[in-house]
Amino acid sequence: MSHETTKTWAFPGGLHLDDHKSISNTHHVTRAELPRQLVLPLSQHIGNAAIACVAVGDPVLKGQRIAKGDGYVSAPVHAPTSGTVTAIDEQPVPHPSGLHAPCITIRVDGKEEWIEHSGCEDYRTLDASELRNKIREAGIVGLGGAGFPSYIKLNPGTSAVETLVLNGAECEPYITCDDMLMRERAGEIIQGMRIMQHALQARHCLIGIEDNKIEAFAALREALAENDDIQLVRIPTRYPAGGEKQLIYTLTGKQVPSHGLPLDIGVVCHNVGTAAAIYRAIVHGEPLLSRIITLTGSGIPQPRNLDVLFGTAMCELLEQVHAKAGDIGKLIMGGPMMGFEITDSHAPVIKTSNCLLAEHRRDLVQPPAAMPCIRCGDCATVCPALLLPQQLFWYAQAREFDRVQDYHLFDCIECGCCSYVCPSHIPLVQYYRFAKTEIWQQERDKQKSDAARQRHEFRLERLEREKQEKKQRHARKAEALKPAGADKGDIKNDPKKAAIMAALERAQQKKQQSHIQPKNVDHLTEAQQREIDEVNARRAAAHKQDQEPSS
Ligand code: SF4
Ligand code: SF4
Repeated sequence: MSHETTKTWAFPGGLHLDDHKSISNTHHVTRAELPRQLVLPLSQHIGNAAIACVAVGDPVLKGQRIAKGDGYVSAPVHAPTSGTVTAIDEQPVPHPSGLHAPCITIRVDGKEEWIEHSGCEDYRTLDASELRNKIREAGIVGLGGAGFPSYIKLNPGTSAVETLVLNGAECEPYITCDDMLMRERAGEIIQGMRIMQHALQARHCLIGIEDNKIEAFAALREALAENDDIQLVRIPTRYPAGGEKQLIYTLTGKQVPSHGLPLDIGVVCHNVGTAAAIYRAIVHGEPLLSRIITLTGSGIPQPRNLDVLFGTAMCELLEQVHAKAGDIGKLIMGGPMMGFEITDSHAPVIKTSNCLLAEHRRDLVQPPAAMPCIRCGDCATVCPALLLPQQLFWYAQAREFDRVQDYHLFDCIECGCCSYVCPSHIPLVQYYRFAKTEIWQQERDKQKSDAARQRHEFRLERLEREKQEKKQRHARKAEALKPAGADKGDIKNDPKKAAIMAALERAQQKKQQSHIQPKNVDHLTEAQQREIDEVNARRAAAHKQDQEPSS
C-alpha cells in the first residue's frame, strides 16, 4: 500500500519567500554542551504558570519534577539535568515584552544523574486517559511554537476524531529544526503518531511536509512499516503552509470555522516534534527536558541545529556556534516572519524556542518609516485567513476594539504576510498584536470586576439572610416567653414553662418595685403633717387669689 497521497487543496493568499534553509540543515543535529547553570521559567507554555515544588538548596535529579502544573491549562517543569537549586526568582525570559518572570535556577553538577523512571513498551496496554496523564506529567506542550499543553488536544471529549494531522511543513524561512528531526528521528515521530492515534481513536493519519524537504520525506517513508495507514503528503512550499488552519485545509479541504477549533471538523493537529516527545515520554518514561533548536543567520559563523537542554542561556549557545556578541545586531527567537526580538541574550531556551536567528550588525537595515495607507489592497490579497488587514489596521489604530473584532481579529494568525507586502511599510501585525493584548486585558479586567460585584452581592445576600434568621430566632424566643395568662393551660401542664413564667413574673414584680420611689411624706409625725397641711392651705388660698379678677 502506498503511503503517499497527492490530493491537496490550495489555501488562499500566502507568499513565496526565499527559504534560507540550506544555511543550517547541512550538519547533523549535535548535542549542546552542558552549561554550568540552567534557568527554568515557570511559564514555558500557554496557560497558567507552573508552581515551584522545590526550595533553594534542594538537590535535584535529571527528570525530577521541579514545578507542578497549576490547573487544567498548565504544564509541569522538570530538571533537565542533576544539580542543586540555587535560586527561585525573577529572571529575563524570552518574551516579546522583554519583562522578567519567575524562574528556578539549577547549578549543574555534571553527573547527569537520572531520577528513577520507566516507560511502557506497548502503549496499546494503556487506555486514552492513562496516556493523557503520562503526557501531562511529562510536561509536553506543542513544540511548533505555540506551546499549548498537548494532553488537552488529545482529549476530544465526546467528539469523534476523523483525522489526525502531523505538521511537518515548517514553512517559515531559516528554521530547520523540524526538518532535521524528521531526517534523523523519523522512527520516533511515527511511533509518537501511533500513540496519539491510539489515544484519539483517529480513523486517518496524515503527515504534511513541504515539498522542499526531500530528505525528511524519504526518512519518514522509510520509517513507515508495510501496510501502515499513515499517509505522507507533499504540500507546495508556500508560506504559511504550516499554519494549523492552512495545513488542515491543504490536506483535507475542510475549513476550521471562525472562532472554532480543528476538532469542530473532526481534526486534531500536532507538530512532528510533539509526536517525538510523546514517544519518549510513553515508551521511555522521559519528561520533556530538551529540544532541537536552529541557530542561524548572518551573525552566526557555524549555523546548525543543536539539541539543547531547557534553561540554557541563549548567549552560551551563541558562543558554541562561534558567534561574537559584538557582531550580532539583532537576535530573534523564531523566524523572520513570526518571531520576536530578544533584548537580553541571557534569556534561556524554553519549550517553544525553535530558532535563534542572529543578524550580523553589518546586515542590519533600519526599517523604512511607515507612510499613510494608500488603499492598494495588497494586504488583503495575501492574507491566508481571508481577512481585511487594512480595516483591521484602521480600527486597531483608532482603538475601536469592538469594530476590530467585527472584522475577525482573532482569526488573524499573525503570519506577517500583510506587513511584508505593504508598500507603505505599515507594521500591521504590531497593530493586531496590540489590539489583541488590549482586548484580553479588558476581558481580564471585566472578569475581575464581575467577580468583585458577585462577591459584593453574595455578601449582601448573606447579611440579609443572617438578619432574617436573627429575626426569626427572636420571634421564636418571644413566643416561648409569652406573658403570664397566655396559654395558661399549656403552662400548667409544662413544669418547665411554668417555672420560666414564675421566674419572669418575679422579675417583673421586682422591676415594678424598683420603680416605686420613696417619698419624703411617708411616716410623718402628727406635727409635721399639720405643718404641711397649713402650708398647702396657704398655697391654695394664694392660688385662688391669683385666679380672681382684679378690681
Ligand atoms: S497594503 Fe498597506 S497601503 Fe496597501 S491597503 Fe494594505 S495597509 Fe494600505
Ligand atoms: S497577519 Fe493576519 S491579517 Fe495579516 S496576512 Fe496574516 S492573517 Fe492576514
